[in-house]
Amino acid sequence: MKDTGLKAVGFDVDGTLIINIGYCWETFHDRFGVSQKIRKRLKGRYLDGQITYKQWGSKEIAIWRELGVKRDDFIAVIKSLRLVDGAIETLNVLRQTGLYLFILSGTVSIILEEVFPTHASLFDRVAVSHILFDDAGRPVDFDPGHPLRMERENKAAELESLCQETGFAPEQVAFVGDNDNDVGVLRASGLGIAFCPRSKNAACAADAVVEIPDLKYVLPHILKRVARQ
Ligand SMILES: [Mg+2]
Repeated sequence: MKDTGLKAVGFDVDGTLIINIGYCWETFHDRFGVSQKIRKRLKGRYLDGQITYKQWGSKEIAIWRELGVKRDDFIAVIKSLRLVDGAIETLNVLRQTGLYLFILSGTVSIILEEVFPTHASLFDRVAVSHILFDDAGRPVDFDPGHPLRMERENKAAELESLCQETGFAPEQVAFVGDNDNDVGVLRASGLGIAFCPRSKNAACAADAVVEIPDLKYVLPHILKRVARQ
């Protein structure tokens, strides 16, 4: 019989591990005053395939640089964000259970470094993007990370990459996410959990929906599906 017991759990960041946020890029744009018209034009060019994800991120960062935004301004925005309730406790339980834990997110590393500085010790793999700053604190470039060797923002394809690398089958992986960009990976994984979903599509794509904003409520769904050791 095929072993579909869970061996790994992945998490989105914006709106899942970190709250008071939908997508961090939108939050930064809102706070730095970038017009909807400019954002829509760039997003459209990306969606039409005219620019890559890396080029899209680099262009947005160039806009912030031209506006005179510095690293401290990002930090000021990040101060309004916080780690979701129950995060540490939940991640510790999952680790003790022997599950491989990973982050798969379009967020940027500066957010995790500020809000969740101990994250590296809790996760086996962290796949996020990076804003690069110069010595004066100006944002100068974008590194999409590519830790899973795929174009970013296709989380289902990134899950496939992770599975090839680790030897897990997608059915042995649970994923916790909240928004439209999680739909593919929620469907592709063995247990998709929509956590306080901001998107109806994410809720529909998931096997379970948790509406209480405390991460420990994902535990019962995951633990009953854990592989027998
Ligand atoms: Mg999210």
